[in-house]
Amino acid sequence: MSATMASAEPLVPPEIVSSIFYGAAVSDTLVLLVAEMVGGTPRITWGNEGATQLLGYGLADLRSLPVASLVPTLRGGEVKLLLRRERSARMNLPVRTASGALVETVVLCVPTPSGRMWTLRLVPVDSESERALRATADAHEQRFATLTERSPVPTLLSEQGMRLAHVNDAFCSLVGLQSEQLLGTGWMSTVHPDDLDGVIEQVVAVLGGGDGETKARLVRTDGTERTTVIRFSHLFTPGVGAGFVGTIEDITDRLAFEARLEHQANHDPLTGLPNRTLLAEHVAERFRPGTSGLAVLFLDLDNFKVVNDSLGHAAGDELLVEVAARLRATVRPGDLVARFGGDEFVVVCEGVDQDDAVTLAERIGAALAEPVRLGGVDVRPYASVGVTVQTAEHGAAEELVRDCDIAMYQAKAGGKGRITVLDQRARAEARDKLRLVAELRQAIERREITLLYQPIFSTADGTPVAVESLARWHHPTRGAISPGVFVALAEESGLIGPLGLLVLDETCRQLAEWDRLLGTSAPGQANVNVSALQLDPNLHGSVVAALERHGLHPTRLSIEITESALMKDPASAREVLMQLRDLGVSLAIDDFGTGYSSLAYLRHLPVDCLKVDRSFVAELAEGHAEIASAVIALARSLDLKTVAEGVETEEQAAQLTALGAGFLQGFDLAQPMTGHRTTAWYAAHAR
Ligand code: C2E
Ligand code: CA
Ligand code: CA
Repeated sequence: MSATMASAEPLVPPEIVSSIFYGAAVSDTLVLLVAEMVGGTPRITWGNEGATQLLGYGLADLRSLPVASLVPTLRGGEVKLLLRRERSARMNLPVRTASGALVETVVLCVPTPSGRMWTLRLVPVDSESERALRATADAHEQRFATLTERSPVPTLLSEQGMRLAHVNDAFCSLVGLQSEQLLGTGWMSTVHPDDLDGVIEQVVAVLGGGDGETKARLVRTDGTERTTVIRFSHLFTPGVGAGFVGTIEDITDRLAFEARLEHQANHDPLTGLPNRTLLAEHVAERFRPGTSGLAVLFLDLDNFKVVNDSLGHAAGDELLVEVAARLRATVRPGDLVARFGGDEFVVVCEGVDQDDAVTLAERIGAALAEPVRLGGVDVRPYASVGVTVQTAEHGAAEELVRDCDIAMYQAKAGGKGRITVLDQRARAEARDKLRLVAELRQAIERREITLLYQPIFSTADGTPVAVESLARWHHPTRGAISPGVFVALAEESGLIGPLGLLVLDETCRQLAEWDRLLGTSAPGQANVNVSALQLDPNLHGSVVAALERHGLHPTRLSIEITESALMKDPASAREVLMQLRDLGVSLAIDDFGTGYSSLAYLRHLPVDCLKVDRSFVAELAEGHAEIASAVIALARSLDLKTVAEGVETEEQAAQLTALGAGFLQGFDLAQPMTGHRTTAWYAAHAR
């Protein structure tokens, strides 16, 4: 039982009330009642002479009569409205007499400061003039009825208080009831109980004057709900009182449509998972700088492309749906699983440390290791997982997701099905790398990547026959960065295209300049290193453009491609190389012997020259000439030239010449030099 529950006894003994209202008690023109909360119900506790006369009750019967039975047309909400604790209320109401007849009255209800007692003054309204006015009002109502009857907008009309005088067909069909069931206060039973207070509040406000609207659910007879906006306008009928016109807009479908649009905008249609947009919102909402405990797991399926390519897109879709379901089933209910795009998923969880996050990543890994049957084949959807847990270093939510992305790439690079945590050190390295990539891009744009040229000599007569151009990056603060580092970085970051173009163009420019400065003593050919990633259909066009730009014949250029680059996709490499060969450009296989060439392929590739890797040249000093001699023999049998690289001593030069190498390159013979030095060097060495 609630402590505030009203007591079962009247607040003030009736004798005392009687004496307070003494003057009124004997009046027969005044009809006065006192109501109190008795046992949780508002009841009449006292009435004056006028009241007993009007209502036909004896004073004893009147006492303890529930207010609700005195005003039978009022429902719970309306009684509440009448007996408000803070304000007086005025309503046109029929009251029931002892004989059961209804008498139209105006009820004026005034609360006492305690809020548990009210005085009710009833003024019967049946004078002649009022009846006349009432007739006019009826005519008004009739007009209103004809106006709204056929209107498609559900409409309510009350002339006094809450009680409906008219309701149109549109409203009847909206709620599935007959107008007889809705008139008076019947319409209020269609309002969802949780929304009723709001509707009553709004009506009370409108009865006092003005307009207003409220959102309310209406419950149909079949139990279904419609969400509506009810717009009320104040309506005053002379002689009758304050009422309202209510028009109803059914917004159920619009809300459902908006919800669907919102869902579509934030979810992936295939798996139903939240998409990137929602993920970003989710992380941003939970991210508090300087705290920890927010973990992000970035997953990338290892074999998705294979499934898609070999079993078809339908199987690929099926796999994604299955993975989504497993992820959902593996994480805790509050965790977010989002589809980041393609075969990438992101899991976000809160209140975890790094160990928890790794444990979750392992659980996910185990869940994905179970085979899925797709098109009659069992596929295990392994994933590489990157894990990041928020640290003080994370200044913004996006950094967390980005770090996790980096961790995922590291996981992928480390081998399939791996979990990688991006810890403090790894994060610092990753940032460092990002910065270096940005600086490399700038260096390429500003042509701060320069070239050195290393002569290549013929063993037949010792003359320099060509130069190899070697890229150099002198970083403003880090000093010289080796091409082994920055070429790999360019390959990873998509900068290899621009870098390759720069090297190609600068080499051609330099060749043309040597031609001008040295005439017939200029280097006959320049070798340009080309990365595996440059072996695409654009290469031919780029080479042609560079040669034309500087007015060079294609035979002046040779392309060096490492053996491993060539063997990645020999079939498509062949096509590109054939075009270059047709143009007249020569081709050398670099670092030969370190990759695993298929000899069958070697015969079908348009190659002119093999470059014996310098590791085999170095072995000569240790008495191992086997590989160097085998490579030279192989080249001869395929009718290819050979360049032995990394010749650092005279002994090596002599030995390689004896083994049959056609050309030599190395520090012993000439160091890589700037273009300027090379000009001078050639001028001096020209015969
Ligand atoms: P690579 O194509 O095998 O280039 C030959 C490397 O051996 C050069 O190193 C050269 O300086 C070095 N070298 C020359 N003579 C000797 C010697 O007697 N002893 C020793 N130990 N080394 C010698 P560098 O310039 O550091 O280039 C390293 C690699 O970077 C190159 O190997 C090439 O794969 C790559 N690279 C250089 N420039 C470019 C470029 O413009 N584009 C591409 N894609 N890769 C390049
Ligand atoms: Ca090379
Ligand atoms: Ca090489």
